Amino acid sequence: MTSAVSETIRGLVFSIQRYSIHDGPGIRTTVFLKGCPLRCKWCSNPESLQPRPELMFRKVKCDLCGSCVAACPRGAVVLQEEKLEIDREMCDSCGECIAACPKGAFEMAGRLLGVAEVLTEVRKDDIFYLNSSGGMTLSGGEPLMQGEFAIEVLKACKRSGLHTTLDTSGYVAREVLEQALEFADLVLFDVKHLDAEEHKSLTGVDNGLIQDNLRVTVASGARVWIRVPVIPGFNDSPDDIRRLAKGTAKLAVEKVSLLGYHEWGKQKYECLGRTYPLEGLIPPTEERLGELARIIEAEGLQVTIGY
Ligand code: SF4
Ligand code: SF4
Repeated sequence: MTSAVSETIRGLVFSIQRYSIHDGPGIRTTVFLKGCPLRCKWCSNPESLQPRPELMFRKVKCDLCGSCVAACPRGAVVLQEEKLEIDREMCDSCGECIAACPKGAFEMAGRLLGVAEVLTEVRKDDIFYLNSSGGMTLSGGEPLMQGEFAIEVLKACKRSGLHTTLDTSGYVAREVLEQALEFADLVLFDVKHLDAEEHKSLTGVDNGLIQDNLRVTVASGARVWIRVPVIPGFNDSPDDIRRLAKGTAKLAVEKVSLLGYHEWGKQKYECLGRTYPLEGLIPPTEERLGELARIIEAEGLQVTIGY
């Protein structure tokens, strides 16, 4: 099917991940957009948070040659006492240091892409989608923070005949969500905690809007999979999970996915010059996730576990 793809709208994308198998049915390409209104302490994509490009520096690759110091027009890179320091306040993400570094120690998280560029990238794996009933997943950050671009990407993919999945925190403007739902075959909706205060303590925002938007999403007739990050000491008590399951069982959702906390994004905090917020927190075991899954199943819900 032919379709008119917006030629003017561009969005800030920080990753396009091919062969994803955990972001919806089949083999998928996941497009990650930058910017998020939440600040979940367990976030494994810290480079997704700010709605602007951000410089990442991999210390292990650097041999302290100093080329980047000379190349930086803002004097934001300083070499002293056998250590390279980046002044994040002074850095304007110009990227000069990336070109200057012979070791590839720098990388820019976030690049502006047009809708057609995203579609071209996604369509490279058409054959895999066809054979696995896969498609494109739009994720983030919170993809609907770049609402206009996100909707155009979903629309372009759907009109090309691809299966579309929207992965959302639910903390988005109602009208943007409703427009996006028109072009999403499946919604992965994050539910982190049903208690408003607990929710705010580890994500930075109240869950009222999220709960309202979940009801709106389900009422729209969309296929919905609930995703629950299981964070030890935050939402992993049997009571927390039972409450969440009872609330979810009232809604017409297809299944619940329990996603155990992990530390895989930890190194990226260092690359961004940030401190990892949950240092020392031990991920839940598979047995623990299994126990929690059984509590959810007892409420009549289908459940999967993963990390
Ligand atoms: S991105 Fe530009 S301003 Fe930032 S450290 Fe590199 S050269 Fe300097
Ligand atoms: S140019 Fe690259 S290798 Fe040289 S000091 Fe800068 S980051 Fe290190």
